Amino acid sequence: MTTEAERAPAPPPLNETTAGNYFVSNYPPFSFWSEDHLGEAEAALARAPKPGTKLGLYLHIPFCRKRCHFCYFRVYTDKDSIQIRNYINTAIRELEMYASQPFIGGRKPHFVYFGGGTPSYLSVDQLTLLMGEMKRLLPWDEAQEVAFECEPGTLTEPKIKAIRELGVTRLSLGVENFDDHVLEINGRAHRSKEIWRAYEYARSLDFPQINIDLIAGMVEETEANWRECVRKTIDLAPDSVTIYQMEIPYNTTIYKEMKAEGKLVAPVADWPTKRSWVDYAFNEFARAGYSVTSAYTVVRNPEKTKFVYRDQVWSGADMVALGVASFSHVGGTHFQNLADFDPYLAKLNEGKLPHWRAYTPTSDERLIREWILQHKLGKLRVSYFTEKFGVDPRERFAEPLSKLAADGWLKVEGDELTLTRAALLQVDRLIHHYFLPQHLSARYT
Ligand code: SF4
Repeated sequence: MTTEAERAPAPPPLNETTAGNYFVSNYPPFSFWSEDHLGEAEAALARAPKPGTKLGLYLHIPFCRKRCHFCYFRVYTDKDSIQIRNYINTAIRELEMYASQPFIGGRKPHFVYFGGGTPSYLSVDQLTLLMGEMKRLLPWDEAQEVAFECEPGTLTEPKIKAIRELGVTRLSLGVENFDDHVLEINGRAHRSKEIWRAYEYARSLDFPQINIDLIAGMVEETEANWRECVRKTIDLAPDSVTIYQMEIPYNTTIYKEMKAEGKLVAPVADWPTKRSWVDYAFNEFARAGYSVTSAYTVVRNPEKTKFVYRDQVWSGADMVALGVASFSHVGGTHFQNLADFDPYLAKLNEGKLPHWRAYTPTSDERLIREWILQHKLGKLRVSYFTEKFGVDPRERFAEPLSKLAADGWLKVEGDELTLTRAALLQVDRLIHHYFLPQHLSARYT
């Protein structure tokens, strides 16, 4: 299936916010994964793991109260409790099928991630059933991190308490903005008073990490409003803050409206403005004692607060992903589940794994993948790549490196590559310089 996004030209835009994906989450692009490679996923599951490779577990919960106008994830707002219960039981069945495969090799998950959608949309009973069964099948008592995404308006005190008791270590609050009008006009379901209520109660429990998500450049965002959002976040003093720059992929409500009105430019701030807002936020957080630990995160105590899922995925860990449309990476092969609700359920009901498309990167593509993803940390160790891939990245990437260095985006000194702040703020655009030519012909989907 070729989508509109796949037909669109790369690279991402320089200034105006036009439709398309900006954020690079994987490599090679999803549009190169195909059904023809599904046998490679089966083979990867049937192999013992490479010694030392960590295992992660991801579950996609595709339910939300409302669809945000900028949302491009696979989410449903119309499922009743019977359908949700059915989905949970099916995801448990999916894990059961993985748990007996050779790729597990006796490993317990090193990290667990509940993403969405809105994992906190589930009731306490549903969460208790789901997590209890997951732990029975693949105990996560040794996990360094159990992350859980929440929409503030779905959190009641009993639910937050249950989430903590079930072993979640990072509660990630999708705040996005503190202004009720901005939240409303962007289609968010929650309002600011729900943020304070949820945050304060969660803080009273002993979550090792509470994270706040913000988006720079929502519809009708102003500089003054953004500054208020940063100030209010600093007042709350979360352990970490994640900031994304608003992008408008093709399957969003905002894009559909743009298309209907014949507009090419999205009704949000342009890229230089969004970058300057994130730069402002990074500087304010630094003044409040936070450290910038990636292109999207600041952390109050970098010694204590880690992003295990991110760091492991960006360094090639195995990750088995459950749920509709979710993305796995096992034994060097990428694969994605069927992207629609009913076919996903039907496949598992037939007793088969619900895979849709796969791709096994070459050694060079795996090197590029880790190299570009780790650029998002702002600092890389060259020897890590030489030791792992047997290739000196300074030679492999000599041409793009000299161009990026000459343009002032980065420098390589000894074993360390460092990006400037300006580069970090547009890293998803710059890393296209490392792509193989054939992968520049399609934009990410
Ligand atoms: S809460 Fe998140 S996943 Fe749900 S519709 Fe909004 S952006 Fe999408």
